[in-house]
Amino acid sequence: MEVLNTQIQTLLARKEQALNLRQLKSINALQASEILINGNKLINFASNDYLGLSQHPLLKERAIKAIEQYGVGCPSSRLISGNLELYEQIESNIARLKGTQAALVFPTGFQTNLSVLQALSKLNAFFFCDKLCHNSILLGAQLSNKAFTRFAHNNIADLKRLLDKESNKNNWIVTESVFSMDGDIACIDNLRNLAKKTNCHLYIDEAHATGVFGKNGMGLVSNPEKTTVIMGTFGKGCGSFGAYIACSKPMRDFLVNYAAGFIYTTALPPAVLASIQAALEIIPQMVSQRQELLQTSARLRDEINQIGFNTGQSNSQIVSILLGDNELALSLSQYLEENKIYARAIRPPTVPENTARIRLSLSAIHSNLDIERLITVLRNWYAS
Ligand code: PMP
Repeated sequence: MEVLNTQIQTLLARKEQALNLRQLKSINALQASEILINGNKLINFASNDYLGLSQHPLLKERAIKAIEQYGVGCPSSRLISGNLELYEQIESNIARLKGTQAALVFPTGFQTNLSVLQALSKLNAFFFCDKLCHNSILLGAQLSNKAFTRFAHNNIADLKRLLDKESNKNNWIVTESVFSMDGDIACIDNLRNLAKKTNCHLYIDEAHATGVFGKNGMGLVSNPEKTTVIMGTFGKGCGSFGAYIACSKPMRDFLVNYAAGFIYTTALPPAVLASIQAALEIIPQMVSQRQELLQTSARLRDEINQIGFNTGQSNSQIVSILLGDNELALSLSQYLEENKIYARAIRPPTVPENTARIRLSLSAIHSNLDIERLITVLRNWYAS
């Protein structure tokens, strides 16, 4: 035990020395635009609840009704006795909204990426992942006996160069549509064209596009080619929890049989399923909220850049202030908190070396006053 503790302490000390130690903060109450920590109310710019749906009355009402009807848990896997009818309603809604033959709900986005990519490796897949893909994608691709490589971020020329070198028949291009930490957007049309030309399949993670982008708010990719697999989450813009795959019918059947993160896990609680279903009803109608959210994000970016900060290639509701240095990122995060604004410093390895940052995520329910306050505090820090 002593040896183990020493090993742990050595690793943690290394992280602490690099100003990289992750620590949990206790939260008393949470909303998309407000957070209560140690009894202090702060404006929250660190939530992925992009539409504020986690507090929406319809989601709450449906969740409560589902508890009354079914109970709080569904203690079995879907393949055993947990496949509540709610699942099928959600899946047919997702397939309709995404324009795919089928859809499959998973417990979490992390589990989805990990286990779907692992399952695809049983079809001799070789993965070409964007360098900035989420950890769950990279881990899933790594489970494929190293049949993967990474292309320079959003760089079609680099992707082409790598594809030219690979003669495998089942090549998969893997990307996020809206990147979680940089808030920039993948060149989806170019990727679709390239995939067609080179006979590749596409795997697109829409976690941060869901709720915010697309005609019906369900992301940037719809009516995809049959060989495309789209992944999305319900725990961000949908205000609930869980994830989905939208794909062809044969792919769905394949995943039900081969995706370990689907097979060997407990079904989602009924309240979660009911709130997802409610979110899917509301999101297509929230056109003006989406437009306003993206306009506010653009205005915030402009203001932040005018102060002198660098927001990189952000083009969405995720606006990162790139600082490069861990200490600087931590110091700005602390200053913001002292001034009643909550935004976390994001450091390597979550983001690449020397790109520590403050990640700001906006929600449709932030007020103009919230945004003005943020800009004022940032301006004061920059001037100090
Ligand atoms: N993909 C991306 C791009 C993400 O940002 C996240 C969550 N941070 C996930 C997948 C995982 O989703 P979940 O939180 O539902 O596990």
